[in-house]
Amino acid sequence: MKIILGKNSGFCSGVKNTIAKAEEELKKDQNIDCLGEIIHNKQVVEDLEKRGLRTIESIDEAKNKILIRAHGTSKEVYEIAKNKNIEIIDLTCPKVLAIHKQVQEFSNNNYYIFLFGIKSHPETIGTFSFCSKNASIIEEKGDIEDAIKNLKKSNLKNVLIISQTTFSISLFDELCKIITETLDKTYNIHIQKSICNATNLRQLETEEISKEVELMIIIGGKNSSNTKKLYEIAIKNCKNAIYIQTIKDIDKEFIKQFESIGIIAGASTPSYIIEEVYEYCKNI
Ligand code: SF4
Repeated sequence: MKIILGKNSGFCSGVKNTIAKAEEELKKDQNIDCLGEIIHNKQVVEDLEKRGLRTIESIDEAKNKILIRAHGTSKEVYEIAKNKNIEIIDLTCPKVLAIHKQVQEFSNNNYYIFLFGIKSHPETIGTFSFCSKNASIIEEKGDIEDAIKNLKKSNLKNVLIISQTTFSISLFDELCKIITETLDKTYNIHIQKSICNATNLRQLETEEISKEVELMIIIGGKNSSNTKKLYEIAIKNCKNAIYIQTIKDIDKEFIKQFESIGIIAGASTPSYIIEEVYEYCKNI
């Protein structure tokens, strides 16, 4: 059996940094609140919770110290924390912080922002809060019409197109094409490709491997946005793509039928889970 393990599988630099810093902080203080799950991986969340990290859903539940995860958070959370004297350990990924800064700068320079992203995703919600009221979130083609209506109502002629760091590369290009073809020449459109490098590499590698193998295994948390995108890419090219969280989700009899397997994992999947899956397939 041929097994191809994606070179870009597993933790990205932002997640690695978040986990390492959280572990460091928990050595000093075992009573820290984290706004939302620290990463979209159940095993890692449970491990850190045992060491004193409490996952909370809202800043209103925070006690003295709050950890902001790699996705970042909204402007309001910083303001509430400041007013309530809650200490912030800010582990927002630098790539997300750069987007917050850009949308603020462009908003201040009278740009209307088209933010491509999953509307319910914390990163998108956070980034959107740093835009002025002249901004729209576009998750899919169907959102473009309303976004353009709102742009026209604003009377602004400058447009910034930017996205969530883990947005799909192909959808980004598709949405940009529709927008640039729809808006007339009086609009000045600035396109900022803000999909991070880690996401780029994983999506490109998934595309490549999934065209070569009979079975594609995508590993990651069920609520991980970047892993979901990898699965969507894989299933387009390989009809036998499966999405698993750990080795426990593998059906041995199913796997046995294939001569070639590709394995890739999302940016929040720990390396030990990837290794377990790889070894398991190798030994079948
Ligand atoms: S996926 Fe990209 S933006 Fe998100 S934490 Fe990782 S490196 Fe940072």
